[in-house]
Amino acid sequence: MVDPVLCSQAIVSRSYQKRVNIKIRNILRSSARRLLKTATYVPYVFSNTGGKTPILVYHRVCPLHFKKDIVYANVYPEEFERQMLYLKRNFDVVTVSEYLDRRSGGLLNGSEICITFDDGFRDNYVYAFPVLKKNGLKAAFFIVTKYIGGNDLFGWMPMDGAARQDSISNRERWRPLSWEEVREMMEYGMEFGTHTHTHRASLAEMGPEEARGEIEKSTAVFRQKTGTDSRLFSYPHGTSKDYNSHHVLILKSLDYRAALTTTIGRNGPRQNPFELKRIIVYEDDSLLEFKKKVNGAYDMAAPLQRVWLKVAGTNADDVRIPEN
Ligand SMILES: [Zn+2]
Repeated sequence: MVDPVLCSQAIVSRSYQKRVNIKIRNILRSSARRLLKTATYVPYVFSNTGGKTPILVYHRVCPLHFKKDIVYANVYPEEFERQMLYLKRNFDVVTVSEYLDRRSGGLLNGSEICITFDDGFRDNYVYAFPVLKKNGLKAAFFIVTKYIGGNDLFGWMPMDGAARQDSISNRERWRPLSWEEVREMMEYGMEFGTHTHTHRASLAEMGPEEARGEIEKSTAVFRQKTGTDSRLFSYPHGTSKDYNSHHVLILKSLDYRAALTTTIGRNGPRQNPFELKRIIVYEDDSLLEFKKKVNGAYDMAAPLQRVWLKVAGTNADDVRIPEN
């Protein structure tokens, strides 16, 4: 028979061990990011934008000021506006579908860039949408269909300390988009796609049937609520460890056109459309860092990301701090 005291001690010690592991990984990760910021000066000086298409990924655009805000990848609204002005002046900003159309028609001009958002926070509507509208820019938004139109906080987000407190006192800014907001943004030309139904875990962490259910359900809800088909998908967490060929086959069978990852880099004309690379924009990216990212200086980070995945696991593991 299992001794309940020993059993609970084992659980506490496993949980403590997990916390320590996550803390170590987070320290390593921020050290790696600091190192990259320095190392990318060299390729930035020699970078050229031609031939490859960057796809940026944002999560939140919101005036949230936490010290350890990195897990939310929140960009402050004034910084977002500076970034959009830079793109407007220096790139041909297109939706992901426009990029795919040009690509298949051999019509890429080499200065395209795409802007995307994952998850479906309401702040995308409140802060990002007006800036995009004002500057005549279009973006793609990947939404977690179970939460859209509801009041629940995203269940997969690590809610500890200041974030938990803020989500109680400033509930509005933690809300997901409503379906009315989604439709209004669509009418204006913003593009929407799916990012699973619950985002409970990465697809690779689920069994094959659950993963299929997540994709099918989000596709069906999207169609029912918007009256249009989702043709674009973004993998939760999105590294090469978070999806596999089984998931690509499901997406193809549902008539999806492309899927986006968080594998770092820009996309060449022959990049697999179901493994499009993206570059995450973080809240502590200066305008110079942003310029480095969109001009290809971060392409050198791809091999480092592969090593990181081997050593430390997926993004999903990095940000989950267990409650107890
Ligand atoms: Zn996500």
